[in-house]
Amino acid sequence: MKRFTIGVDVGGTNVKMGLVSPQGAILSRAILDTKSFNKNKQKLIDAIVVAILGLISEKRLAAKDILGVGLGLPGPIDAERGMVNFLPNIPGWKNVPLTNILRKKLCLPTFIDNDVNLITLGEWTFGAGRNYRNLMCMTLGTGVGAGLVLNGSLYRGEGFSAGELGHMPLNEQGPACNCGGWGCFERYVGNATLLKKGAQTFGRAIPLPEIYQLARNHDPRALRFWEETGEHIGNALVGVINLLNLRLIVVGGGVANSFRFMHKTIVKTIKARAMKIPAGMVQVVRAQLNDDAGILGAQVLVKGSVRGR
Ligand SMILES: [Zn+2]
Repeated sequence: MKRFTIGVDVGGTNVKMGLVSPQGAILSRAILDTKSFNKNKQKLIDAIVVAILGLISEKRLAAKDILGVGLGLPGPIDAERGMVNFLPNIPGWKNVPLTNILRKKLCLPTFIDNDVNLITLGEWTFGAGRNYRNLMCMTLGTGVGAGLVLNGSLYRGEGFSAGELGHMPLNEQGPACNCGGWGCFERYVGNATLLKKGAQTFGRAIPLPEIYQLARNHDPRALRFWEETGEHIGNALVGVINLLNLRLIVVGGGVANSFRFMHKTIVKTIKARAMKIPAGMVQVVRAQLNDDAGILGAQVLVKGSVRGR
């Protein structure tokens, strides 16, 4: 039976991939260093192809056992035409018909989508968002992104550009953002800003996991650091909640490791500022699948796409 899928999560740092069973278990994995291919798109594609074929042969499977391959990429993706419009953090990718290229090389049904969309599909089907019809999954890291499930299906937007939560303005005057706008949410909770704020707070360069550890040890500066971050997140979510009346917001990405120190402030800010009805219905929870969300979400994409063809 053609039931296994392969999920590939292409990031600016590395490419994570996995062979996924029909039940949604990751049976084997491979990882590539994206930066070592930075200057050469073709070599990166070839390395991904070799790794995918390796995952299949390693488990003594054949092409006929594979339902399809799904890839998530960090940028605007035309999921219908299988086109990578561009990748802001991986040089050399512009208007690449990736699905066609991979189908020729792999001889397997292949589909692509934005990485956060696949993470959202993963959390929705296998993780924190199971059984919900209206939810947003946000990822907090170097960038801040989001995927939306509305009325029980993934909402990509007219130009596959929905979910740019990080570039929602929190402030009419705030600091300039590399998107060309200013006062964007990402300028308050993106990794670069948090690291800078951490250095100011503690008087030295300090990684975010260490600020998490300090909070665990009840350090008041660290606790305040995460509370203030939670307040920024809460303020952004007030806009989202008032606009969309979601049932669930899933918080993922590296910064979500400190979710337990931010959750109370996020909820308090929502209660204080959002409209009563939507504020009373929404839950804010931590993502459950961590790094596996994209690989599992790829299975959802493949199943939906194969059926739809
Ligand atoms: Zn911006």
